[in-house]
Amino acid sequence: MTSRVRNIALMITLVFGLIAVVVFCMVLGHRTMNPQKSLVHNRVTSSPKHRILIIAPHPDDESLGTGGLIADAAIRGDKVKILFMTNGDGFHFGAEKYTGRAKVNKDDYLRYGFQRQKEAICAATKLGIRTNDVTFLGFPDQGLASIWRHYWDPSKPFISRQTKFSHVPYPTAVDYGQAYSAPVLLGVLERIMMEYQPTDIYVTGTSDRHPDHWATGVFTLLAMSMLESKDPCFCPHLYTFDIHRANWQVDLPVGTDSDLSLPDSFFDYGDELYKRKVSRKALEAKKQALSCYKTQAIVMPSFLKSFERPYELFRLHTPRSIVSTNQVPKNSWPASSLLALHPVDHPKRESGSVIKSAYVLQHGPDLYLKLVTGGNCSPGTSYSINVCTVPSGPNEAIERVSLRLIPKTRSYELVDVWPPLNTKEVKVAYTKDAVQIRLAGILLPNAKYFLFNIDLNNYGKIVDRIPWERFNVTPNRNWRKPLNCRVEARQQVAVSPPSI
Ligand SMILES: [Zn+2]
Repeated sequence: MTSRVRNIALMITLVFGLIAVVVFCMVLGHRTMNPQKSLVHNRVTSSPKHRILIIAPHPDDESLGTGGLIADAAIRGDKVKILFMTNGDGFHFGAEKYTGRAKVNKDDYLRYGFQRQKEAICAATKLGIRTNDVTFLGFPDQGLASIWRHYWDPSKPFISRQTKFSHVPYPTAVDYGQAYSAPVLLGVLERIMMEYQPTDIYVTGTSDRHPDHWATGVFTLLAMSMLESKDPCFCPHLYTFDIHRANWQVDLPVGTDSDLSLPDSFFDYGDELYKRKVSRKALEAKKQALSCYKTQAIVMPSFLKSFERPYELFRLHTPRSIVSTNQVPKNSWPASSLLALHPVDHPKRESGSVIKSAYVLQHGPDLYLKLVTGGNCSPGTSYSINVCTVPSGPNEAIERVSLRLIPKTRSYELVDVWPPLNTKEVKVAYTKDAVQIRLAGILLPNAKYFLFNIDLNNYGKIVDRIPWERFNVTPNRNWRKPLNCRVEARQQVAVSPPSI
């Protein structure tokens, strides 16, 4: 071997050795700099093949929660659509500031809604999204949770306290003139999802504290579940983000260099969490998008600013599995039926009313629930157990049951039920610190999913919630549905102590 050849071989060895050392240091450095790596994945959540749908309750939520993701996707050339549930036309303080009037009227609220719509278009443009890919539904700000809970009949629509409208008043909204009701909203969500066929949906979580935000989350969950039940090819990923939740982003120092650290409560759910790095260019676009929201900047500048960070947080939603049993549960319930509990609000609740644990079991088409509480509730305490089943065929309808338990009197009410349910199909049994519930035949024969939540009420006011969750059902086509007999929806029933 000549000395020239030896020198070349030596240089090649040195270069490869140097590359190996650099790669090793990068890997080691990345591990030590990112201690949450095992919990939070910096997964790239879009690619050119992806079709992203962002569903925002109000103009600004899309930029606050997903502005970086949208801008990065636009830079890569991905397909992105943004859907606004409301125009944000019910924000009293914002409307006052915008109009400069101490007493705002319905026309002021509407004018404010039009202005916020313009700002949303400005923000989308800054994020790289075409106006054609921005859709407004024009539903009422501060009305979505009420619509979800009570307005399932389009002939008796919700009326906005601010604009006084009972139907969509914005001519550019897709369902202009349609009634403010849950079936209309679900219908339009389903139609948009079916036409667009998103691969990834981003929406505010049911764990978000703002009523419009959690209601947007549960409407989306139901619309998506209905499509999934009908069409096995429809199976987008669902990512959720929280805007109003324990001030986790507001309490951190403001500034683009400040990293986000996750609050402990984010780890309660068992879902996969993603901490997504926002590129420098996308962060700049996000800042510009937020600057479009002048009506919001005059009322909450530091709140908007607190989202200008190089990371965005998402949770990948996965349906919970329900335990199916062949035996009617008695006193001891399998540990596997225990639900993870994650109340989301800051209640001023008495210790006796706290839900310590909750269990859920499926026995054929019957649903069994057990709540273990503090055991000594005041007369004003009640629990709302809310179930919504997802239809899987064109001849099936959504079934909703809202059961109000009043522990002090050991009674319950069927508050909002569709279709009407025979009280024989509901059984409630109280013990000292627990209550067991059976909802007979509530699961549809071809059911794939049902949705479920618990509200803790104090003198009629919701003080805490276990957010809406989606459960997988173990289906059985041989189930026979019990007959539904017409009963009064608001029928109070005294319950005797025997177990179910
Ligand atoms: Zn919002």
